Amino acid sequence: MRRRMALIVLLLAGGAVLFLLQRHKVSTPITPRPLLYLVADGEREAERLPLDITQVSDQEEMRVGARLSIGVCHAQGQNRDADFVKIHTYVTQVGEAVARNVNRQGIHYTFCIGDSPGFVNAYALPGGYVVIGRGLLSLLESEDELAFILGHEIAHVDDRHAIERVQYQLASRKLGLESVYQLGAPIQMLYESGYSKEQEQEADRDGIALAYQAGYSTKGALDVMARFEKIDREMHSAAGSPVEEFASIPFESLEEYFRSHPPAAERRQALEQIIASHSWNANAPVRPYALRPIFLAEQAAALDAQGKFAKSIARYKEAINLDSMNQRALDGLARTDWRSGDGQAAETAAIAAATHNPSVETVRILARAGSVSNRQQAIEALTALTTRQFQGKPTQQYARVELAGITAGHPPYASSEYRVLLSELANQPQLDAMVRTEMAWWMYRAGNLKEAVTELEAAHQAFPNFGQAMLWKAWVDSDYGHQADAENDIAASLNAGIDNNSDSGATQAAIRAVISWRTDKKDLAETQFQQSADNEPVWMVHNWVANNFSPATAAILFQLQGAEAARREEARKKREAR
Ligand SMILES: [Zn+2]
Repeated sequence: MRRRMALIVLLLAGGAVLFLLQRHKVSTPITPRPLLYLVADGEREAERLPLDITQVSDQEEMRVGARLSIGVCHAQGQNRDADFVKIHTYVTQVGEAVARNVNRQGIHYTFCIGDSPGFVNAYALPGGYVVIGRGLLSLLESEDELAFILGHEIAHVDDRHAIERVQYQLASRKLGLESVYQLGAPIQMLYESGYSKEQEQEADRDGIALAYQAGYSTKGALDVMARFEKIDREMHSAAGSPVEEFASIPFESLEEYFRSHPPAAERRQALEQIIASHSWNANAPVRPYALRPIFLAEQAAALDAQGKFAKSIARYKEAINLDSMNQRALDGLARTDWRSGDGQAAETAAIAAATHNPSVETVRILARAGSVSNRQQAIEALTALTTRQFQGKPTQQYARVELAGITAGHPPYASSEYRVLLSELANQPQLDAMVRTEMAWWMYRAGNLKEAVTELEAAHQAFPNFGQAMLWKAWVDSDYGHQADAENDIAASLNAGIDNNSDSGATQAAIRAVISWRTDKKDLAETQFQQSADNEPVWMVHNWVANNFSPATAAILFQLQGAEAARREEARKKREAR
């Protein structure tokens, strides 16, 4: 008895911990495996107990569900970007269609999104609250697959698995159902760990029927199980290596999903039998998955961060083919093209992205890529941006400064238009600093180092917290031959509170490497550069360096790239020899 109480306490505490971890969306996933096992074991133990539970009414179950879903479904108001709204609307639409033929018509279904790429799971709370994680959604490829997954969760509610689970939990502690209002949200974690094998089989059986009755192809259920089988196999054959197709999902989360469910092969075989026994068509065509472009863009971004530019580009293009208005994919393609060193492709992609609602970064890439590719075309696209609906927004201010920068060969435009822009930004010091820093890049590229330094100092004065200005000044000062000043600039950029992400960390290491090289500390330079290249693969891209830096600095970076490539080759040979 004592052991069981201890288990339950642990189980609830574990639930609370997991709940907090998930709510705070930790970026490094902490595997909740041991805790989940504990939850699952505790659950089985509780279910073996000869406890009497009475059947509750639909209304009562809805009240219990409303309580348990606090913090899960009611947090849906946060993070509402366009993608999230699209995901939520679509899941709700498919889910409501699937729920139409449930037995217990008194239960109203609510669909909630677990908005983290690491959330590779789905579960249902009593009262019809179905939660599906973004990570799981990203693995699907047809609407029919989604219909089956949702059907399975709806069946857990319709078959009373969900409400009975909380009833058993409470009864084993000699508590009435009213106590659920004191337990609160942490108990929801019970539902993520899966049910008994019999209940899982029942949910598959009733779930596929619900999806079929809603007009979905049963092929969806078989397809998704076949994919899970494949992922499971790949994960265990290439021990520890992430499955590349799902680059945006933490490996641990994928593993977790397979641990909490019966083997996919078993489920698929059982589903095939069910389909055969009803003489359902297992080959009816499936419907396209409207969320596919969103997740393709997400995977493409993850591949880009790993330096797998060709694969990233292919995936962005796939997303754009499916949805030519997907801004994230349009912006992402321009960015990855640019980072891969292909100025011409980057310009074309940035112009395409700029016809909709481009990010500020896309505007910058458009201009920079135009300066090494088709200048006239970039000038036209930037001019169009200055006259579009972005009046007074950063997109437009950037289009104006880029236009001034790219036409710097024509001083009348550059000087007058740029000064007009600065005068308009007199009351917006942060934007003023950003615009000046951007202009300084054009001055630096044109070899006007002195002008660039003046501009960056003005940027720093306008908004001292914009650390990027000082970081760029370090490049310029080093090029200028002022290595001590460049060191001071880096320190100043750190004091200014520059984003402490891996991106600027890699940039700082690269500047330090160039400074070391110029002061004849070549070994140190190579070590510092290795740090840049390890953290941000773009530093190894020859043309990206050529497109962004002055010829003098690029020449040093090329040498450092060569040394790093040789070091990597050496390390590879050593590994192979072993
Ligand atoms: Zn289940």
